[in-house]
Amino acid sequence: MSDQDLVLVLNCGSSSVKAAVMNVAEKHVLMSCLAEKLGNVDAFVTFKDTHGNKHKRALAGEYDHVAAVLTLLDELKLAGLYERVAAIGHRVVHGGERFTQSTLITPEVMKDIEACVVLAPLHNPAHILGIEAAQKAFPDLPQVAVFDTAFHQTMPPHAYHYAVPSTLYTRYGVRRYGMHGTSYRYVTQASADFLQRDVHDLRLVIAHLGNGASITAVKNGQSMDTSMGLTPLEGLVMGTRCGDIDASIFSFLADNAKMSIEKITHMLNKESGLLGLSNLSNDCRMLEEAASYGHKGAQLALDVFAYRLAKYIAGMTIANGGLDALVFTGGIGENSTRVRSEVMAHLEPLGLVLDHDANMEACFGRSGIISTKEAGKPLALVIPTNEELMIAQDTARLANMAL
Ligand code: AMP
Repeated sequence: MSDQDLVLVLNCGSSSVKAAVMNVAEKHVLMSCLAEKLGNVDAFVTFKDTHGNKHKRALAGEYDHVAAVLTLLDELKLAGLYERVAAIGHRVVHGGERFTQSTLITPEVMKDIEACVVLAPLHNPAHILGIEAAQKAFPDLPQVAVFDTAFHQTMPPHAYHYAVPSTLYTRYGVRRYGMHGTSYRYVTQASADFLQRDVHDLRLVIAHLGNGASITAVKNGQSMDTSMGLTPLEGLVMGTRCGDIDASIFSFLADNAKMSIEKITHMLNKESGLLGLSNLSNDCRMLEEAASYGHKGAQLALDVFAYRLAKYIAGMTIANGGLDALVFTGGIGENSTRVRSEVMAHLEPLGLVLDHDANMEACFGRSGIISTKEAGKPLALVIPTNEELMIAQDTARLANMAL
């Protein structure tokens, strides 16, 4: 085996950098870190080693993405890991129609990622900063971009077109793109492995339920439809995002509440969803606790969340032409027995029936079947996602690492 056996996975946000150093062959994280408050003088990085021990370091210099990556580089040297890093994988939210799969980063690829900034103005600029910082810190290493949108590029036109004048698509790229694609790709293969089925002969509906939430119909390994659209606002109820809503809300609130486009957009993205409905929190676990003490807002938020999700599961079953397995993943999907049970209560018309004991057992990082097993009926599963591992595996493959 080569001495260079590690991949560095970077996920850069506008004021944060998340990183993990992985041994891909062993599917093992040796070090991870989170840089926060970038752009502020009190920016800092928290490092975690393989035993879970944490320590913090302040950022020197410009308190920016470059400073964060240089601090990480220094920490890698101190831990004796620097020489072992063979390649760097970057999470990139939006690849538009240009990127249908992960790719080695070249100057031309950078230009195309920049061209997608209009589609993801909050995300892609931060990814570009992160890539440039990594190129400076690790000039000799191959860098790979892994796109959240790429998996959904197999959606058929009837699934990705909005019913608006077609010039909006041809001139401005207005269409449905979908997100969480890296998670869906991982969970698709993990579900097939778990069921010991051929991924090319399997109809899955996968619900990725975290603070951001979406759902995808995956037929024979390909995305057929997904709930997020031009932006991550469309679809399911999320932590703070409203999901599907009548677009007339903009003119209604402008006329009646004298709100600006910016204010309404902010409200729909940051003050809605579970938080807006409950008037309490965007955090599912906290809402479950409050609901158990009789908090009406928390109860309503969880009910709307589950009902909207159930409707989407039925719709995605149509997109697939049938259903072999419904899969729950993400922080809520993997851990919330209550949300899973509330959703499943709506799904008997699809032949899905909850096995209550199995639902209580499939938690905290474990895969499991949570439905009753009846011949000819679909199954419901819990499969933990691992986007970082997927990014690391793509990076290792494209960098031709010997594993
Ligand atoms: P993620 O964005 O995938 O990290 O998921 C975050 C969401 O998962 C938050 O709403 C958490 O409250 C929720 N979550 C995590 N653990 C639990 C749990 N044990 N029960 C209910 N919700 C949970």
